[in-house]
Amino acid sequence: MSLLELNHVSKSFGSYKAMDNVSFSVEPGRIVALIGPNGAGKSTTMRAITGLMSYSQGEVTFDGQPVRFAKTTSLAKMGNLIEYPSIYPNFTARDHMNYYAMDAVDHADIDELMKLTGIDGPKFGKRKAKKFSLGMKQRLGIAIALIRNPKLVVLDEPMNGLDPQSVRDIRALIQSLAQKGIAFLISSHLLDELQRLADDVVIINRGKIIRQGTMSDFLGEGKAEIKVRTNDNAKMLEAAQDAGWEAHLSDDQVVITMTADVNAQKVLAKATEFNLDVTDIQTGQTNLEDHLLEVLSTDSTRV
Ligand code: ADP
Ligand code: MG
Repeated sequence: MSLLELNHVSKSFGSYKAMDNVSFSVEPGRIVALIGPNGAGKSTTMRAITGLMSYSQGEVTFDGQPVRFAKTTSLAKMGNLIEYPSIYPNFTARDHMNYYAMDAVDHADIDELMKLTGIDGPKFGKRKAKKFSLGMKQRLGIAIALIRNPKLVVLDEPMNGLDPQSVRDIRALIQSLAQKGIAFLISSHLLDELQRLADDVVIINRGKIIRQGTMSDFLGEGKAEIKVRTNDNAKMLEAAQDAGWEAHLSDDQVVITMTADVNAQKVLAKATEFNLDVTDIQTGQTNLEDHLLEVLSTDSTRV
């Protein structure tokens, strides 16, 4: 049996099925990305898993026990950060740690956890949570999610409001904890971050799971691409499209789909033909964002 299992779970809000027959599982030590467009049902699914919400059909099982709304016994070994962390405005970071450790059967070493999550510095200290920035609150929320030595941590948009350095810190923290056997289920709009971080992907669209598997399998099924940067990307794009190639602009480069007839040599020749200077050219698999959009655009379960 997997650490976390969802078997045919459904949840409706009025006539709208926010979760429609959702089944997937999470194994120990795996970092699983739950991805999908806005309103797809990611937060709803996370709330069902963490016992924060009732569900109408199916079953969620964690660590061999059923998870039911407001029955927290099965959740002693699950941490979560969903939407907003449960923060008390007049508590310091350490007050929160002491408070949440109080009723835990078993808890992390508070000093060590505060250090790991970066909430031990002078910026925190005696400062009360009402004076914290969004990024500081997110870090505290993650520390709270880790206090009970969880086997599974459910994080809904944990990178929200974090500066790039904090995002990197949190990524490194999650990776080191996963190596110790802790599983993570994470949703984020930062798909580049998830691509680096996650072992597995679960894709949800309109309440239905449309894909699940390893990140590398998912990316591997995407198209191979040629990414080229020139002194005039608009002109390069036009030249590629005039040649009948599938191409689009992405950030500061032109992304061209590789086919039997279109390869890097052909792209370089085309650039030369149009007097363009190529500053960079790379080939590789599609990225998570591009492939996700592709999969969503062909999803037949869309209404
Ligand atoms: P996501 O997190 O993927 O953006 P949500 O799980 O928050 O999506 O929402 C899924 C759908 O369920 C959305 O259409 C949302 O409007 C609806 N929904 C979520 N929570 C509620 C609620 N408490 N009452 C009514 N509708 C809700
Ligand atoms: Mg959400």
